[in-house]
Amino acid sequence: MLSFWEKKHFLNFDLIVIGGGIVGLSTAIQYKKRFPVKNVLVLERGLFPSGASTKNAGFACFGSLTEILDDLNHHTEEEVLSLVKKRYSGLCSIRKEFGDDALGYQASGGFELITQNEIHDLYQLNTINELLYPLFGNPVFEEIKDISTFGFSKKVLKVIRNRFEGELDSGSFIQSLWNRCQELNVKILTGAEVTNLDIDNSELTVSNEGNDITFRSEKIAVCTNAFTKRLISHLDIVPGRGLVVVTKKLPETIPWTGSFHYDKGYVYFRNVDNRILLGGGRNMDFLGEQSTDLIVNHKIRDYLKNIYSEIIMPGSSPEFEMEWTGIMAFGNSKTPIVKMVNNHVGMAVRLGGMGVAIGWKTAGELVEKLSKV
Ligand SMILES: Cc1cc2nc3c(=O)[nH]c(=O)nc-3n(C[C@H](O)[C@H](O)[C@H](O)COP(=O)(O)OP(=O)(O)OC[C@H]3O[C@@H](n4cnc5c(N)ncnc54)[C@H](O)[C@@H]3O)c2cc1C
Repeated sequence: MLSFWEKKHFLNFDLIVIGGGIVGLSTAIQYKKRFPVKNVLVLERGLFPSGASTKNAGFACFGSLTEILDDLNHHTEEEVLSLVKKRYSGLCSIRKEFGDDALGYQASGGFELITQNEIHDLYQLNTINELLYPLFGNPVFEEIKDISTFGFSKKVLKVIRNRFEGELDSGSFIQSLWNRCQELNVKILTGAEVTNLDIDNSELTVSNEGNDITFRSEKIAVCTNAFTKRLISHLDIVPGRGLVVVTKKLPETIPWTGSFHYDKGYVYFRNVDNRILLGGGRNMDFLGEQSTDLIVNHKIRDYLKNIYSEIIMPGSSPEFEMEWTGIMAFGNSKTPIVKMVNNHVGMAVRLGGMGVAIGWKTAGELVEKLSKV
């Protein structure tokens, strides 16, 4: 039962954004900046964002050597260049918007471990550098001369450095977005799951304590990534669960920092506060990981444990202190779906594994579309 005051003040908006992850918050901010007088509300089902945005690894990356080569097998050179450009310029835009300190950004580089399986890709390092030259004006990838200081397994034959990549603190990124929302007077309600979206009438329902509460808005932005098909069906979106584990603080100083990729990027790790954060391994059970359930796949956890003991810290066994899963959204294309469903409802979803890099820009594209109709 709602009061007179609640009905009068809390149910009608100019823009309602569904989903309070990177894309939802970025959409709210950029819309409000463009239209300061509009009333903007973000509805997030979790207490915190509960998809991918606070569950990720915080890699500020745009593609390792083997990933770019793999992309070239499925896309034209022009398409690959445009993907890399969008990711890199996306990273530059959040650094400019919020500042490196606020994001916990470190320009520590991206690294890829090369084993016998990927060694042939090295022959194409110069070709890829030439391809990317127009974007960066410098070679992107270089082979590290002395890799003994990393202490990796002897199976790691080479390490390739990408000097334009870095890492950030995913919590600080969301905190920066929350702070900006507050400055701009964007309202955020958490614990507010949208259970029904009426596209034709520009209305939506939030179920709360047994009551269905209907909100109305001139415009609605759907930013629910992997969960979108619960509200709008017939979209090319497949969920992809990702596991992350973090060790206890290690007694010895870890001799490296940066964003590290292994097995063509399916496994990734970094040094956070002298702990090893390690994640990925979806390729061990692709089908099983096409799920939105936030549970741990033990087969993948065991796989990550082996990578730790055999490749990253050979001979030592990890003590994982934390583990969690997050849900990504994939489809046939690596490009997000950004479109208007009608004159009132638009969406920016399916961010893949690069939402840290492209989330802000993707939100900007949606705001552009919402502003035109
Ligand atoms: C384990 C893991 C590691 C990753 N590592 C990296 C990385 O290192 N670098 C990188 O660039 N990217 C990484 N990503 C990908 C990146 O995190 C995502 O692409 C990005 O967070 C997507 O942002 P989003 O806002 O579109 O989606 P989400 O963060 O999923 O946000 C969608 C929000 O909508 C909410 N929601 C869903 N349905 C409803 C509803 N009905 N009502 C209300 N709210 C709803 C959800 O709770 C969620 O908070 C990783 C992802 C995972 C899972």
